[in-house]
Amino acid sequence: MTHPLDQAVSILRRGGLVAFPTETVYGLGADATRPAAVRRVFVVKGRPPTNPLIVHVADAAAARRCASHWPDLAEELARRFWPGPLTLIVGRAATLAPEVGAGLPTVGLRAPDHPLALELLRRFDGPIAAPSANRSARLSPTTAEHVRSDLGDEVDLILDGGPCRVGIESTVLDVSGPKPRILRPGGIARTILEAAIGPVELDAACASPDAPSPSPGRQSVHYAPTTPAVRFETGRMPPPPADVAVLRAGDDPQAFARDLYAELRRLDAQGKREIWIEMPPDSPEWEAVRDRIIRATRPAPR
Ligand code: AMP
Ligand code: MG
Repeated sequence: MTHPLDQAVSILRRGGLVAFPTETVYGLGADATRPAAVRRVFVVKGRPPTNPLIVHVADAAAARRCASHWPDLAEELARRFWPGPLTLIVGRAATLAPEVGAGLPTVGLRAPDHPLALELLRRFDGPIAAPSANRSARLSPTTAEHVRSDLGDEVDLILDGGPCRVGIESTVLDVSGPKPRILRPGGIARTILEAAIGPVELDAACASPDAPSPSPGRQSVHYAPTTPAVRFETGRMPPPPADVAVLRAGDDPQAFARDLYAELRRLDAQGKREIWIEMPPDSPEWEAVRDRIIRATRPAPR
């Protein structure tokens, strides 16, 4: 019998799609150098053509081959945080399919911290474009079963690596300009980045989800369940009626992030009138979780 990873490699080599686990969420992978394969990712996800894909690499050496310019800061960050949930935006090399950039001259690169993903990248020996393996604007998948129920037959193979450890998407950090800037909060907190490299800007679109964004795909309705979801600031939720499903804020940001999408899927499946979500505090360690909740909900009416 062929090893699933060898099967995955031959599917990628002939331009097919392979879903695979990472530490953040499951990715929908395609050979990042093949325009037709990358285009198929957009079609299967129903992803707007303006929303660029993250390209996964095994390590910094592989990342350098995907970049037109690899700044010292990128090297430093890769050394400290890869493999890990940090995507670095740099100028894009001509070896990549231009489609990954969705009209931008840049590319988002990251080395995922998951043994199956890394082994796949090593055996494939090339860059793999992989956005989250869900339909566009819906909840990201954190188990192989989530991928199966969202995309089913439209992926050629799903590698099952169990539930994702981080559970929310990577931090997207633009290092292509004069100052490092977070375009999307995620698995690595801003405070951790700042402890390593000094001040990091937070893009205006992160602070206010409806502001225009240099990182397409940051539209305010994203990562959303199908049941209308409403958010309440900490301590502001009235007693919920019986036809409402409730998600309470926890006290552990990592554990809450890990379970967030699976919890939202579970509550969504209950078919209640609304999902009510209690916001965690507005503090740095909750920045990424708050961002995802804001994008999945509308604020409670006052
Ligand atoms: P996903 O892979 O579904 O988590 O989405 C990837 C996200 O990364 C996009 O929605 C963008 O916010 C960001 N991104 C990827 N590539 C770029 C890029 N070249 N420039 C700016 N943002 C990017
Ligand atoms: Mg996504």
